[in-house]
Amino acid sequence: MEYKVESTETLRNKCAACYRQFNRIEHLVEHMRTSYHSAHEPMAIAKTRMQKYIQHQRMQNLLSHPRKPGLLGRFANLGIRDNTESGSTGGTQVVALACKMVGGGSDGSLDLCAKVCLTDEYDNIIFQSYVMPLIPVTNYRYETTGIRPEYLRDAIPLRQVQKKIQDFLCNGEPKWKIRLRSGRARILVGHGLDHDLDSLQVEYPQVMIRDTAKYPPLLKSSKLSNSLKYDIQTGIQDPYEDCVATMKIYKRMRSQVHKVEAHPLASDTQNRNNFAAWRQNELERMSPDQMMEISRSDYNCWCLDSYSG
Ligand SMILES: [Zn+2]
Ligand SMILES: [Zn+2]
Repeated sequence: MEYKVESTETLRNKCAACYRQFNRIEHLVEHMRTSYHSAHEPMAIAKTRMQKYIQHQRMQNLLSHPRKPGLLGRFANLGIRDNTESGSTGGTQVVALACKMVGGGSDGSLDLCAKVCLTDEYDNIIFQSYVMPLIPVTNYRYETTGIRPEYLRDAIPLRQVQKKIQDFLCNGEPKWKIRLRSGRARILVGHGLDHDLDSLQVEYPQVMIRDTAKYPPLLKSSKLSNSLKYDIQTGIQDPYEDCVATMKIYKRMRSQVHKVEAHPLASDTQNRNNFAAWRQNELERMSPDQMMEISRSDYNCWCLDSYSG
């Protein structure tokens, strides 16, 4: 009989999201307070499917681009593509960016952008060019970049590329004015974008950045138990292929169907007191499902981009 009582009690203290059990209700409340469970967390089934999809995507990339760097180089002079000024990109609100780095400095360890690519949501190239770095290149890293000195000879100077990309991203919106889900500035997708933007000396607000290397559901060392693990392929890959790969992952994550909430973030003012200490008694009387109802995400789920104008 005693066992039965205990099991009902345990059931009552079971997290509605991760199913962890707690001996005491206050432990469950504390767990909910700190775990930021939400409808935007990757679920176990979605995770398996996503992992399969990423695996498939990587295989496809490997299979369809077995070419050697020399082949890419042969088209070096045809490398410049610039549709940034054309009217056809006016409606493009999401773009992917990737760079290829060569080495600078006395030991060649300084990363310098030598090739850049910008694509739209449909994998069309908006801008692609070799880039002439501000300081001399001391290591072309040919094995992994496929870039030879002659490709950079007629390359566009970094300053020009910087301005072009900066202007295209802001799309006429002053940088200080750029806010999420408003205005004309474009959403920027990439993998490790801080490094790319740094090397291009482009400044762009974090609210507009969708980085597959920083997105909690995709992180290896994420607190999310169901996090999706993946790697963007490294090695001799053209920036265009990096753009295509990250854009696919972004679109996949954006298309997830999650519960629509007026205030989806724990940091939204409306949610600030959801698990406040002064509500402790009230919280301890709630069911696990009721607690889940008021629990919000601590990161900006990319599904929210699909609701923006
Ligand atoms: Zn939990
Ligand atoms: Zn979501």
